[in-house]
Amino acid sequence: MIDTAIVGGSFAGLSAALQLCRASRSVVVIDDGRPRNRTSPAAHGIPGWDGVAPAEILARFRADLSAYPTARIVEGRVVAVKGGLDTFTLSTDAGQEVQARRIILAHGLRDRLPELPGLAEGWGRTVLHCPYCHGYEVKGRPLAVLASSAMAAHQAQILRADWSDDVTLLVNGAEGLDIAALEAAGIKIERRKPVSIAGEDTVQLRLADGPEAEFAALFLAPAVDLSGTPAETLGVGLADGPMGPFVRVGPMQQTDIAGVFAAGDLSSPMWNLNFAVGDGTRAGIGCHQSLLFPDFIQPLEKAAA
Ligand SMILES: Cc1cc2nc3c(=O)[nH]c(=O)nc-3n(C[C@H](O)[C@H](O)[C@H](O)COP(=O)(O)OP(=O)(O)OC[C@H]3O[C@@H](n4cnc5c(N)ncnc54)[C@H](O)[C@@H]3O)c2cc1C
Repeated sequence: MIDTAIVGGSFAGLSAALQLCRASRSVVVIDDGRPRNRTSPAAHGIPGWDGVAPAEILARFRADLSAYPTARIVEGRVVAVKGGLDTFTLSTDAGQEVQARRIILAHGLRDRLPELPGLAEGWGRTVLHCPYCHGYEVKGRPLAVLASSAMAAHQAQILRADWSDDVTLLVNGAEGLDIAALEAAGIKIERRKPVSIAGEDTVQLRLADGPEAEFAALFLAPAVDLSGTPAETLGVGLADGPMGPFVRVGPMQQTDIAGVFAAGDLSSPMWNLNFAVGDGTRAGIGCHQSLLFPDFIQPLEKAAA
């Protein structure tokens, strides 16, 4: 029986582990090595690490943790979680079992990219999810936004305001967009269906019945889901965000199940590496306090059905 099992060993999970190890608590981090930004050549907006490759940042996080004798990292995928407070059992795809008094869910979210040939290949390089993370590198150049979730109009507006005078919204069959307001904000509207994209450093977009158009980048706010993940298996309470569900958490990242904490992208409707580190830190400290004083951090009330 270890103190805490952490599902997911990326920015949130490793930050949580560090706090617990600094209290000399036993921690097992189980991770299958697919951080959400793994296709990006560089992560941006992180003080001290701006422009550094995600894998390099994570290697440093792991190196820090390796200095603590109570931490163990298991390479693998958690496929089942059962039990309750003080008696959780996690099973991995390799048949390993870990028994833990507390669980921190830090396994991130799954992106549901629109089905457009060439789009997945450009994800993280020329197909981008966030102006704050990657907009500066393409500022002042022609940009496109693909309407794939409720956030598309918002994304087009903020890109047009502060990143480029040349922003095209690809309507892509989406309904409910306030086209007049978008045009009034100086955004070009493209109603022809995108058919495919290509390109290594820029986006060559092929449109149905139309010419090829070139953009420095294509932005989209992907839909996300948690289906089939440990969060769903455990049955922690979820909330609805504009791009999909996320785990409801309290001020110390506690969920509505006693002894289960959640941190990082899966516990928020807004995603950023700094937030993941902050959430993970809070979850690690919260989890430690709950090991010491089981009544100190109460689980959230279950949401009304
Ligand atoms: C393309 C892209 C680029 C981005 N660029 C930036 C940027 O420049 N700056 C920035 O601040 N943010 C950026 N982000 C957001 C950033 O990647 C996330 O906020 C951050 O990765 C969240 O960290 P996390 O630890 O919550 O989850 P993740 O980094 O997604 O890590 C989750 C970990 O859990 C593991 N896992 C999943 N399921 C299981 C399981 N069942 N068992 C075991 N392990 C499991 C995964 O393999 C992974 O290692 C970007 C996101 C994307 C999609």
